[in-house]
Amino acid sequence: MDVVTKERISKLHPSVRAEMTNIVDECNKVLTGRAQVRITQGLRTFAEQDDLYASGRTKPGKKVTNAKGGQSIHNYGFAVDICLIIDGKTASWDTAKDWDNDQISDWQECVKIFAKYNWNWGGDWKTFKDLPHFDKKGFSDWKVLSTKKRDKNNYIII
Ligand SMILES: [Zn+2]
Repeated sequence: MDVVTKERISKLHPSVRAEMTNIVDECNKVLTGRAQVRITQGLRTFAEQDDLYASGRTKPGKKVTNAKGGQSIHNYGFAVDICLIIDGKTASWDTAKDWDNDQISDWQECVKIFAKYNWNWGGDWKTFKDLPHFDKKGFSDWKVLSTKKRDKNNYIII
């Protein structure tokens, strides 16, 4: 996998790092060639989340999120957003394209692998779909996560 993805995995909650390494490795193996998984976002600090929330509200730009600091699963390191890197250079968010010609879109192949490891997909959400997003089953309620104690590295103790 690419170094950016590796770096982002290393900042996820410690309990899911090894699993996410396996997921990305497995996706890359199954995709067989042109497309490879890139994690575009993993852990997001509360401050970074507040900054995003400000966009389109107290800061110029469009609204990009309804979650304030602490209200996103990313803030606890249990969520990732992905894209596909095609031929080692071009980022793609195309969820229908079948780069490896096996009659299943590469994105759907990844969705299946994430599901096998018990990760929710934002594409299954009813209210608004977030196709690049996955979060770990059992850790998808920020209200629960926000009540947990933190360790010295600021990760919640589970
Ligand atoms: Zn996300």
